[in-house]
Amino acid sequence: MNIVLMGLPGAGKGTQADKIVEKYGIPHISTGDMFRAAIVEGTELGLKAKSFMDEGALVPDEVTIGIVRERLSKSDCEEGFLLDGFPRTVPQAEALDVLLADLNKDVEHVLNIQVDQEDLVKRLTGRRICKICGSAYHLVFNPPQVDGVCDKDGGELYQRADDNPETVTNRLEVNVKQTQPLLDYYGSKGVMTNINGQQHIDKVFVDLHALLESNRS
Ligand SMILES: [Zn+2]
Repeated sequence: MNIVLMGLPGAGKGTQADKIVEKYGIPHISTGDMFRAAIVEGTELGLKAKSFMDEGALVPDEVTIGIVRERLSKSDCEEGFLLDGFPRTVPQAEALDVLLADLNKDVEHVLNIQVDQEDLVKRLTGRRICKICGSAYHLVFNPPQVDGVCDKDGGELYQRADDNPETVTNRLEVNVKQTQPLLDYYGSKGVMTNINGQQHIDKVFVDLHALLESNRS
């Protein structure tokens, strides 16, 4: 059960990742968590990554890939893993194939949760944050009991400046451009499946689950 999970911001990737790892008992490996763990453990690669991050620089691929290799070599990945946020580019995907081959593994499923860009803009611009406690609401998916007011402390809800439609649209377009080559790469290898993310959260998971089960031998 070696899975790479993909989807644009707002597509519901985090929610589905939680459901998959709960169902299959495999570790959820997000890039951020992986870096943090390597830094806390003080591994050589972790310290290297930290030195780049401290300078505000991008961590070079060779360091990132080394950290991925260390993480995927751990015993909790024997039954599978769910990668989230890596790979981001075709060279990273190629490096992942090489390191997995070394570990006698491969990418079995690339699951791409698809939602129309227009819908994503609606989802991403509906977010409202409490000025007092920072709780997040959503006008459609998680509205407060009283319009514009936090349920917990009555604080005023505001929209973050980078949640406005124009910024969100630009962010999505950059993301689409970056991920398309990756989708093409996995598409050509025959491991990629698009999942309809424009359904109820539970139905999206029903589809993901059916797909993962149908390919189990
Ligand atoms: Zn609040």
